[in-house]
Amino acid sequence: MSNNTNMVPESYPMNGGDGSNSYTKNSYFQRAGTNAMKAIIDDVIAEKLDVEKQISSSKSTLRIADLGCSVGPNTFIAMQNIIDAVQQKYQSHGFASHMPEFQVFFNDHTSSDFNTLFASLPPERPYFATGVPGSFHGRLFPDFSLDFVHSSFALQWLSKVPEELLNKNSAAWNKGRVHYASAPDEVAQAYTAQFAKDITTFLDGRAKELVVGGLMVLIMPGIPNGIPHSSSATGLMFDFLGHCLMDMAKEGLISEVQVDSFNLPIYVASPKEMTLLVERNGCFSIERMEITQPWARVDDLSGQACTMHLRAGMEGIISKHFGIEIIDELFDRYCKKHGEIIGLLESKLNEGNQLFIVLKRI
Ligand code: SAH
Repeated sequence: MSNNTNMVPESYPMNGGDGSNSYTKNSYFQRAGTNAMKAIIDDVIAEKLDVEKQISSSKSTLRIADLGCSVGPNTFIAMQNIIDAVQQKYQSHGFASHMPEFQVFFNDHTSSDFNTLFASLPPERPYFATGVPGSFHGRLFPDFSLDFVHSSFALQWLSKVPEELLNKNSAAWNKGRVHYASAPDEVAQAYTAQFAKDITTFLDGRAKELVVGGLMVLIMPGIPNGIPHSSSATGLMFDFLGHCLMDMAKEGLISEVQVDSFNLPIYVASPKEMTLLVERNGCFSIERMEITQPWARVDDLSGQACTMHLRAGMEGIISKHFGIEIIDELFDRYCKKHGEIIGLLESKLNEGNQLFIVLKRI
């Protein structure tokens, strides 16, 4: 039996429940990403899923995991898309009579709002649903027990903030900023190193859990090769959030020391970086690795929409550090100032801001 070595990491749950600031109601950018990926996932399953092998292994259940699923509804859409594509493939290959049953494992940190997730499971779902609490930076499943892994907009979360950022004596001390986008190189390098460690443990775990031939689809914020860190759309939004926090510090609403000691544990990777990490792991073939730009299909880049999106994802981590009482003020400021970056944001989004990866366990 394999050993579950899951550490207890920092976790920053998305806003739970279904209130006006909840992730459920405000994750439409991620949803746009998920929807835009449907056609690509259809292709991937049609081309790469080895139906004959599945049938010859006489396993009657196809096991799918969604890692970092949050509270829905996006995860339900993604899981339904995958199952639709698998069923379509079985049918078109004349294997309808061998159709497997499906089991979906919904994974997130233990602190995520699983109650909301379970309460909103689609009643007519074509799968057995299971919740799997714990960090995907450790082991979550027994050896060779998964056929398909999906993860969207979760792998950008680092397991922790790199320690150097908080050390006043380090060149990577991130004074007056909350991210690396416009920071000195040392800060970005500290983030890059932490991301590499995290992806390495992620890939090591999945290499053990996926069956040979199993597929893994990873969707995350991304940056095209050769573009500076300061140039990602995500970085731009975070930088701007940092400016709003610094404005509040200058007005005495929070302290500057609090801003200096706060950093968002989020990293936006390029295809080149991910390719290197996958190759170093050595257990997967890269079936696809590309930058896409689904956000451009979301017409609404208004201050209100971007603020709600940012708030649904970041309120948890910000209120943990600064206290819940600053949240309304902070996001009001962000919303009012959003007009200053909208042009730049749009052009960055057009360069492509999403990394789409398909790996096969070899
Ligand atoms: N996949 C969903 C949710 C994305 S939000 C969608 O596409 O809409 C990112 C989610 O990843 C959050 O719920 C967060 O708690 C989760 N997450 C981040 N790091 C994680 C980790 N190490 N292990 C498990 N879940 C993690």
